[in-house]
Amino acid sequence: MFERCGPAASLGFSASRMNTPQQFIEAFLQEKAAIYNDANARLEPVYQEYFGKPLLQRSGNFLLRDRQVVDDVKQSSASATVITRSHFKTADLRARYHLSTAGDGWKIIRIDRECFICRGTGRSGDTACKKCAGEGWYDTGGDVG
Ligand SMILES: [Zn+2]
Repeated sequence: MFERCGPAASLGFSASRMNTPQQFIEAFLQEKAAIYNDANARLEPVYQEYFGKPLLQRSGNFLLRDRQVVDDVKQSSASATVITRSHFKTADLRARYHLSTAGDGWKIIRIDRECFICRGTGRSGDTACKKCAGEGWYDTGGDVG
């Protein structure tokens, strides 16, 4: 009646399968959000203990959160860039992930953040923006939200 499956067949989802760049980044963001949720559950009693009343009412602001959603994808044969957008009250912040193929999947090799001085235009009046050297983006060195 039932076919027995070998262990290899029952492994199911593997992160290294060739996903689209968008699926790859979305899986990454989901895993990060799950870890943030775990951390938030442990942070809440800490805030209860250390925060006084005015701050306690806003303790939600101090929880870990990542609102990034995929905004744009550009793909060539061996590389891709995925731009994400995080919505904040004051402005949207964009990040740009550089992906490179690795085996049958992708790896993130660099993360840029949109320049908040020139808002991604690379211009400051008639000259190039000093913060990002006219690129409109700057390398975060890995420090994205
Ligand atoms: Zn700039």
